[in-house]
Amino acid sequence: MPAYDPTNIFARILRGEIPNKTVLETEHTLAFYDIAPKAPVHVLVIPKGAYVTYDDFAAHASEAEIVDFHRAVAHITRELGLDMETGQGFRAITNAGEHGLQEVPHFHLHILGGHPVGPLVA
Ligand code: 5GP
Repeated sequence: MPAYDPTNIFARILRGEIPNKTVLETEHTLAFYDIAPKAPVHVLVIPKGAYVTYDDFAAHASEAEIVDFHRAVAHITRELGLDMETGQGFRAITNAGEHGLQEVPHFHLHILGGHPVGPLVA
């Protein structure tokens, strides 16, 4: 696992150095709108801890952080009307490393919805 780079843009957002449009903030998690949305609804969910990729987070975060993160995802999809009770669904993806075309080296989940997102291609 590469070392965490504390100068990455999401670390700067977490430190309040760069503004964001917050959707939800909890003890361990921050969610905000993507600056260049790829769908009518495009939210990024990040842990506040310093994790580079999903596998880094899953392996090293505390259970409290992991539960908080996933509960935040559920809360956001419900609040934004994307969940299957009130809406028409969503896609949640994470890009990791070079092959995943990860741009920002702080683990984040993309929540995409508001229209049919099309087939998953790789
Ligand atoms: P990745 O390719 O790393 O999975 O995705 C990074 C995402 O972060 C991209 O969708 C990009 O638009 C978004 N992004 C990059 N810089 C900023 C920023 O300063 N603010 C916000 N809200 N999103 C950003």
